[in-house]
Amino acid sequence: MSAITEALVREKLSTVKYPGFSRDIVSFGLVKEVWVSGDDVLVQLSLATNDPRVPQAIKEGSEAALAQLPGIGKATVRIDIQASAQAAPAAGGAPMAASAIPGVKHVIAVASGKGGVGKSTVAANLAVALQKNGASVGLCDCDLYGPSIGLMFGTSERPMATEENRIIPIERAELKLMSMGFLLDDAAPAILRGPMVTKYTQQFLRQVDWGELDYLVLDLPPGTGDIQLTIVQTVALTGVVIVTTPQEVALIDARKASTMFTKVNVPVLGLIENMSYFLCPSDGQRYDIFGSGGGEREAARLKVPLLGQVPIDIATREAGDRGLPVTAADPANPVALGFLQIARTLAANVGA
Ligand code: ADP
Repeated sequence: MSAITEALVREKLSTVKYPGFSRDIVSFGLVKEVWVSGDDVLVQLSLATNDPRVPQAIKEGSEAALAQLPGIGKATVRIDIQASAQAAPAAGGAPMAASAIPGVKHVIAVASGKGGVGKSTVAANLAVALQKNGASVGLCDCDLYGPSIGLMFGTSERPMATEENRIIPIERAELKLMSMGFLLDDAAPAILRGPMVTKYTQQFLRQVDWGELDYLVLDLPPGTGDIQLTIVQTVALTGVVIVTTPQEVALIDARKASTMFTKVNVPVLGLIENMSYFLCPSDGQRYDIFGSGGGEREAARLKVPLLGQVPIDIATREAGDRGLPVTAADPANPVALGFLQIARTLAANVGA
C-alpha cells in the first residue's frame, strides 16, 4: 500500500471546489498546512467568509475527498475562518473578510456581468466624481487581460517603486492610478493562467502604496470568474457597483454578477445603467435605443438602488478615447453632472 504523502493530500484536495465556483480550494490558496503522521492527516485551511455554510461544505468535501486516499487513517480538516475586517453596516451587511488596505477607508469595486457595457468608463468617471466631491480617491484597473484605465487617463507611464519595493501609483486628474497594464508587457497576460493569475492579482493588490484614501475604486474584469473571486478574497470591499446596459441580455448577466457577490457576502451597493438612452443633439429628442426601464426593474428585483442612468453620449466616448474622462474634461457636461450625483448618492449610502 502506498504511503500517504503531503503531495497526495494536496492533489486530492485540489478536486474540492469552492462552493458555487469552478475553482478548487488549493489553487485559491486556502490550504495553509498539511501534516501527515503515518496514515493520519491533518489539514489546516484558512478562508474569509461570513457564511457558515461555506466552511461547512468545504470541510465535508475535503474530508470526503481525503477518505478516498488508499490506506488513509484519520483525516481531519480544520478551518480557520477570518472575521470581516471592514464591516459596512450602512450598506446593509459586512463584506467577507480578506484584509483591509491600510489607510484606505472604502474599497468600491465596479463590476459588470459582461464586457463592453462601459464598466471602465463608469469606474473612471465615478472615481473622478468622488474626487470632485472632495474625497481623496484612487483607481485601480484590475483587468489583467484588457486594462483600459491607462488609455482613459492618457498614460502608459511605468510606476516607480519605493525602497521597500512597494509600487507608487501614477497621479492623473488628481487621482492615484494603478493598472496591471502598467506593469505587464503586452505578451504577459497570455502566459498568465489560472493559479498564476490569482497569485499575481493578490500580490499586485497588496503591493501598491496607496497612502491615505477615502475611496479606492477597483475596475474589475468583466464577468464572474476566478479573478473576481480572488479580489473579493484578498481585499475587504465596502461593496460593489454593477454596471449594466438596459437590454435583457446584459441584465441577465448583471443579475449573475449580483448573485455571485451576494454569495460571498459583498454588499451590492447598486446598479448603474449605462447607455440608457440617447439625447439627440440635433432634435433634443430622447431615444431609448435599448428599451427603457430595464435597469430600474432589475434594481427593484435585486432590491438594490439604481444609482443612476448614464446616456449614450458622444462627448463621453470622445473624452475617454482622448485620455481624460468627461467628468474631468468637462464637468458641466450633463453626463459629468450625472456622475457627480451618482458619487454623492454612493457616498451617502456607504456612510462616508
Ligand atoms: P467595458 O469596460 O465594459 O468593456 P468600456 O468602458 O471600455 O467598457 O466602454 C466600451 C466603449 O464604449 C468605449 O469606447 C467607451 O468610450 C464607450 N462608452 C462607454 N460608455 C459610454 C457612454 N455612456 N456613451 C458613449 N460611449 C460610451
